Amino acid sequence: MTNIADWLLPCLRQVQVLKQTNSLSHALLITGADGVGQEELAHEMVKDLMCEKDQAAACGTCHSCQLMNADTHPDYRILDGEASTIKVDQVRLLVRQISQKPQVGQNKVVLITHAQAMNVNAANAVLKALEEPADRTFFVLTSSQSTSLLPTIRSRCLLVNVPTPNMVDVRAWLGRQPDGEILSSLFWLTTQPFRLLSIQQQNKTQLYAALPDKLTSMLRGVTPVSGVLKGVDSHNIEDYCNGLAAILHQCICHSTGAPIDEVLQPIYDTLITRLGIQTLMQRYQSLQKMKSDLQKTNLNPIMQLTHELNQW
Ligand SMILES: [Zn+2]
Repeated sequence: MTNIADWLLPCLRQVQVLKQTNSLSHALLITGADGVGQEELAHEMVKDLMCEKDQAAACGTCHSCQLMNADTHPDYRILDGEASTIKVDQVRLLVRQISQKPQVGQNKVVLITHAQAMNVNAANAVLKALEEPADRTFFVLTSSQSTSLLPTIRSRCLLVNVPTPNMVDVRAWLGRQPDGEILSSLFWLTTQPFRLLSIQQQNKTQLYAALPDKLTSMLRGVTPVSGVLKGVDSHNIEDYCNGLAAILHQCICHSTGAPIDEVLQPIYDTLITRLGIQTLMQRYQSLQKMKSDLQKTNLNPIMQLTHELNQW
């Protein structure tokens, strides 16, 4: 039984029905806001497509399903553009690999996640493959910025739009995940469900969850700046910058009338009195700049953050 988020189910069923009736387009483009689960949905769809059985959902037991679960299926290829640009050589190699007859089942699948990361040549190579589809070969693309894809690619795909879930659904789903209750207290950081889940998977739940209280304590003069930054190192400094920037962002929004998470209220009350809105915005920009400079400079990151927090 698939443990898939409720808001992804209608999209999954839609494609399963098309698959079962042999009326599925050979190219799918899954779109939606960042963090709503396009990639998770795509992985489920790919499993269904690779199953050898003539049924809507993957059986989980056939040879193909077993190979998919072991991540060793020879007729399935994936390119992920999350961390870096997808280049034309990668696309050409993959198109060449899947141009052979299927080795196991009947279908072959190419999954390209974060497809907006394809450069122009890579996108053209994908377009060419879509224009001359190989038999029983499916392309599944995901993108949170589908309008930046070539219109000619979009027009050749069946569009599957993942809806943005409401907060009640997100909370209920988080409740079924490890650390769910703590993750539900991090809506000041993000309301993207799969971004929250990835924080848990990287063992960073506590890092973020502890930040508001540490900051409140620092602003009250109880904890020194060094206490707030205890545990910061080159591996997690970006998380601290993200967390602090998110808190400042919430405070800036609150100053214009948006509601604020109650855990941030004492921080807002102190900062708005002490710094004022203009300085708050400067501090926010300074944190963003520090984050983007982290990779480029050799300055000690803890010294930089200490200097930043000393001005709060
Ligand atoms: Zn199967």
